[in-house]
Amino acid sequence: MGKVNEMDRELLDTLKEKARQVRLGIIEALGTGNRGHLGGSMSCADVVAALYFYKMRHNPKKQDDPNRDRFIMSKGHSVLAQYAALAEAGYFGRDVLATTKSFGSILQGHPERETPGIEANTGSLGQGLSVGVGMALAGRMDGLDYRVYVVVGDGELAEGQIWEALMAANHYALDNLTLIVDMNGIQAMGRTRDRYAIANIPGRLAAFGWKTFEIDGHDMPEIVSALDRASSVKGAPAAIVARTVKGKGVDFAENTHAYHNNLLTAEDRERAIASVLKSSSAAV
Ligand SMILES: [Mg+2]
Repeated sequence: MGKVNEMDRELLDTLKEKARQVRLGIIEALGTGNRGHLGGSMSCADVVAALYFYKMRHNPKKQDDPNRDRFIMSKGHSVLAQYAALAEAGYFGRDVLATTKSFGSILQGHPERETPGIEANTGSLGQGLSVGVGMALAGRMDGLDYRVYVVVGDGELAEGQIWEALMAANHYALDNLTLIVDMNGIQAMGRTRDRYAIANIPGRLAAFGWKTFEIDGHDMPEIVSALDRASSVKGAPAAIVARTVKGKGVDFAENTHAYHNNLLTAEDRERAIASVLKSSSAAV
């Protein structure tokens, strides 16, 4: 798996376009002159697009369907990617994106359950995987076959609660849970490795009993393949370590912490849109 010629070309083209729409939506949500989280939203955009438009079972017209798959953006500051995907999927109008972080908007700077399609309040880093473990356990107890997807950042791995949740998911053999680590190598103030050692995260996850896959998090065939392989694992939770580029798709924001939470000027915004439009971000 993972080779282009083995996959449906039309599906990959569709997902590539969805990822581009997610990136444009992130820029829309960021606006101009407001601080916002461009870098981490862009790095997970391809994974988020693949989840919402390929992998997850969800329906904006049946948001309380007990069998819907759950998505938790544990690195809550990157929720702009989720907002863009939710708008693209029809949970609310795309015009709402421009109201992000304004007073009274249903879209705030971190995920809140008041927003259509948001399953958990996050933003206090390190908590989302624990919430996901609880949801996965609840699904089993209720006899429901939904899956739970949690995205964490690499900087977030410094939070001790993550490792408690990793142990719990292993203990309960939660094979209805998929963790995706958005491994962009950068956190708010600089390189992640300069703050905390993050060598061999796939090996560490495997040591905690997780079936682990390592992929290029911007390669759509690899993403799709890994999501399918993760959901077919039996008797253990599955983790996907997605190697990504912070700011991916916006050339002047790539691979730097400067745009972790920087504002865009009107000129930056035009350059960012142009960059996304010309980039083949989800390489096919
Ligand atoms: Mg990071």
